[in-house]
Amino acid sequence: MNESGHREEFEFVAEIKQLLNIIINSLYTHPEIFIRELISNASDALQKIRFKRLTEPNILSPEAELRIDISVDPQAKSFKIEDTGIGMTKSEVISQIGTIAHSGTANFLKNLKNDGTNVDLNLIGKFGVGFYSVFMVTDEVILETRSYLPNAKGVRWKSNGIEKYYIEEIERPHRGTLIYFTLKDEFKEFSDAEKVKEIIKKYSNFVDFPIYVNNEKVNTIDALWRKKKEDVTKEEVEEFYKFITNDNKPPLSYMHFSVEGNVNFFALLFIPETPPPQYWYNFFEKSISLYSNKIFIQDDNPEILPEYLRFVRGVLDTDDFPLNISRETIQSSPIIQKIKQILTAKILNHLEELSLNDTEKYFKFIQNFGQIFKGGITIDYGNKDKIINLLRFQSTLLNDNDMTSLKDYVSRMKEDQKVIYYVLADSRDSLIRNPNLEYFLKNNYEVLIMTDPIDALIVPLIGEFDGKPLKSIDKVDVDIKKDTEDTDKLEPETANMLFERFKKVLGERVLNVQESKRLVESPVTLVAPYFGQDPHSEKIFKIIDKNYQKSKKILEVNTSHPIIKNIAALLKKDETNQTIDKIIEQLFFQTLVLEGEIDNPAEYVKNMNELLKEITEVIIKQDN
Ligand code: ADP
Repeated sequence: MNESGHREEFEFVAEIKQLLNIIINSLYTHPEIFIRELISNASDALQKIRFKRLTEPNILSPEAELRIDISVDPQAKSFKIEDTGIGMTKSEVISQIGTIAHSGTANFLKNLKNDGTNVDLNLIGKFGVGFYSVFMVTDEVILETRSYLPNAKGVRWKSNGIEKYYIEEIERPHRGTLIYFTLKDEFKEFSDAEKVKEIIKKYSNFVDFPIYVNNEKVNTIDALWRKKKEDVTKEEVEEFYKFITNDNKPPLSYMHFSVEGNVNFFALLFIPETPPPQYWYNFFEKSISLYSNKIFIQDDNPEILPEYLRFVRGVLDTDDFPLNISRETIQSSPIIQKIKQILTAKILNHLEELSLNDTEKYFKFIQNFGQIFKGGITIDYGNKDKIINLLRFQSTLLNDNDMTSLKDYVSRMKEDQKVIYYVLADSRDSLIRNPNLEYFLKNNYEVLIMTDPIDALIVPLIGEFDGKPLKSIDKVDVDIKKDTEDTDKLEPETANMLFERFKKVLGERVLNVQESKRLVESPVTLVAPYFGQDPHSEKIFKIIDKNYQKSKKILEVNTSHPIIKNIAALLKKDETNQTIDKIIEQLFFQTLVLEGEIDNPAEYVKNMNELLKEITEVIIKQDN
């Protein structure tokens, strides 16, 4: 650092003065970003020399290791950063550090003035003045540099960031740039090595060159996403995934690609095997981290992925955003919308491939993230068909662990079948209780089993698949043909008499009473009317909206069932018999029990006990 030339004094151009004034006098919300800016500049300088080394034979210090060294001393409150990058000549220092190269700056400053105190300093980086952020934390900066050009001299630049800067020639034996300063008292924390390491891990962990803090290497992980896919092993990718997510399992699957065109970016995206901790609490947490040329900008930007794909984790790196871009600017940027579109298409394609190539993995995906994913149908109209194709459902023809797509279901449909049958339920097990399934099971019609709460909302949005409407087997209008007409059932006249009695007893509690085609084992069942909702959907709607009014149901009666035939016989014999009404009450109660809808269990038990009393009395009489 010997002085070998005379010191020249320069005045900052007006714009810089203004800018420096703002930086120094504004309370900056993230003073730590000066470290990010300095490292980013050093990394750029190293990238440039790495390229020059390949193309130019004659450069200064050709063997120097490409690295960034930071040394801090809490006692002296000093901060020092040095790189072995491309360096600057004297005229470069004047033109690049002393003036503002970017034409937008003047406008930027004009806006700031009009805006008064409300300054978004995050925008500063947009104008290529990141270096000046050091004046937030210090009163005087010294920069010493020597260009890679063999004949260039060393230069020292020094400024208090107010009016002037000084330049002098110095002896500097090697290539690269050194910047050092003493921290203002209120920012002395940045001379603590641990604090500095923490900041580097946050913003600069993937910088290509080793960064040392007081001689200890801090960044350990490569920015794999910027490498070619072929140059990265599966092990490296899994290691990287574990590093960024803290997951201890490898990812279920990953995508590594780059995009060039209107927008340019590199992406390395993961589908976790199971939802990460906190997943259900904080949906946006660290979905995708945004980088600009390997330097971290932000996580959890809600605009980068549609909500239904937020299970994806990973990194996206684009030079299209400057380092200091603000969250609001990103959010409203057309670039981010374009990125979102591309990512969505890529992820949907990836899921399709996974579904074709690895069913086991794909089912895991559906089990863990299917509910969230399905929600896409409600918001992403453009991709609705793609999402529908990617859905998988359990079905009555498949065993517990298997699932089917709608396409495969359709390929298995019976010849006479015109609609896709489905049933909504809490769980597959609870279906044993649903009498409405009896006909379909007996006649081998496949029924999709939908057990996610969201299914009640999405089925109506699917509407139909391949021209075949989806129909709930719990609805009255589901298409049922009995193959063989049952000869064992009640005569229409008797049946009608019985239905009238049912209606009299049940009154307003049912919409109608009619003969059932769908029952095999059970005497009666409730079904939803044409314009009504099936019982499971109603349950869900009731949860969503407390004031939701459930619709009245239709009671269907199995006129071949022995109990039904017995009541009909009793009715014919003596229509004043009160036991008939109790049995009808009991049958109706049972349908409510099966739907899990019984409001007054005491009444149910009382009625049942009366019936039991009558039955036992009859048996005793017979025995006597
Ligand atoms: P930006 O990096 O956004 O262009 P800066 O104000 O941070 O804006 O830096 C201005 C210019 O100064 C850089 O573009 C670069 O040419 C030069 N510069 C800054 N730091 C270094 C460095 N460590 N080595 C070489 N050149 C540098």
